[in-house]
Amino acid sequence: MSERYMKVEKIEHGTVIDHIMAGMAFDVIRVLGLQNDRSMSILINSHSKKGGKKDILKIENVELSAEEASRVALVSPLATINIIANGDVVKKFNAEAPRVVEGILSCSNPNCISNQNEPVTSEFHLGPDEEHRYICAYCERDIVDLARQIRR
Ligand SMILES: [Zn+2]
Repeated sequence: MSERYMKVEKIEHGTVIDHIMAGMAFDVIRVLGLQNDRSMSILINSHSKKGGKKDILKIENVELSAEEASRVALVSPLATINIIANGDVVKKFNAEAPRVVEGILSCSNPNCISNQNEPVTSEFHLGPDEEHRYICAYCERDIVDLARQIRR
């Protein structure tokens, strides 16, 4: 009998974020502000049953709120959030990209008023097209690389 090992242990309580865009798991950790004292499992470039590759993040003893889920959607709009209790999935939902993002992103335009040490909170609006772009409310610059513009 051959021995097989599971790649990642199942978790009893916590959150599994599935279908993260391949290579984005660390950005998800960053937007959630998770510290490395957490017990987490990270799968990078895992093979998806739907074809292609994805990342998976399992966080023990953390139940993601809707607000946190929308942060995940900022960097990985197709992620699914599974809340686990006693080893079972008790709640499953899609991360939904927020229409308005305040304070989380920085504008990539150095001349933008939100980058001038003024008491101005950055504000971005989801663009009208399907391309998942965020546009600065002050200077109207498009944010292309969202993950890079997320404040630590
Ligand atoms: Zn701006």
